[in-house]
Parts: sequence; structure tokens; C-alpha cells
Amino acid sequence: MNNQCPGCGGLFEHTNGPVHDYMLSSAACWEYYGHILAREYQNPKLFKSSHRFTVDAYALQHPGPLDDRRAFQSVRIHFISLHLIFAYRKTHLDARNALKILSGQSFDPLPGRPLGFKITVKDIFESDSTLHEVEIEKWARCAYEGWSVLKPYAEDVIKKSELL
Ligand SMILES: [Zn+2]
Repeated sequence: MNNQCPGCGGLFEHTNGPVHDYMLSSAACWEYYGHILAREYQNPKLFKSSHRFTVDAYALQHPGPLDDRRAFQSVRIHFISLHLIFAYRKTHLDARNALKILSGQSFDPLPGRPLGFKITVKDIFESDSTLHEVEIEKWARCAYEGWSVLKPYAEDVIKKSELL
């Protein structure tokens, strides 16, 4: 347990597996994320209640190189997805539809990155799986609050793109 993930800052064992194209993570962190996704794919109830949070939380915690356009677009739109849910009580389906609209747009680069997060995918993996929905929502809030500096920009985009 001595390999720090360059994205979420969590400590993981060292492994040599694959990682995502532009989201920066350690191989072990990416593998844990795969386990969480599998848990949701195998359970329609969890998929419906948690999958949006899971994808957004992981993307926000693994921003990738700050000069990579795909990386900062990803952080911007996944933040907006969570902002619609947490600040405007939109449904996960609304957030998903917003992502589709936003995916073709271009966004400003990011103002730096959070230094680390209290909850990472490893905490989710190690928590009681019967509490999956509660823990995933906490994780998504943690990722969202870590990037709270993006709120004014998100507000602008939401207004301009008429997402409410
Ligand atoms: Zn990570």
C-alpha cells in the first residue's frame, strides 16, 4: 500500500494493469473503479441509483493533465452533472441528458486541481456493499466539493445552455 494515485491521492498497492486514456490514475485505482462499475452493472437497482454518481466522482477525482483539452472538458462537464443534481435537485437522467448536450462544446482550462480527497474509490470498495448507495453519494459529494471553485463557471454554462 505505498503507491499513491496521481489523481485521487489514495494509497494503493502497486500493480501493472491498464489505465484510462487521459484520466490520470494508478493502475490499482483504475482496477478498483472497474470493480465498483461491475457491482453496478450486475445490479439494476444500484445502477439506477448510483451509476451517475460513480462516473462523475471518478472523473472529477482523476482530472488528467491540465493542458489536455479532453481532460479539462471531462472535469467541467462531470462537475456540471453533479451541480445539477446537488444544487438544483435534478434527476440523474436530467444530468445524463445535460452531459450529452455539453459533450460537443468547448470549455475553459482548469484553475489547478484539488490536492487530494477524503474519500476515494478504495474507501468505496472496502465499505459494506449493502451501503453502496449511501457511500457512493458521499463520494460524489466529496469529489464535487473538492472542485467547488468551478461553481460560478458551471452556473454560466447551465444558463447559456439552458439546462434547467
Ligand atoms: Zn485514484
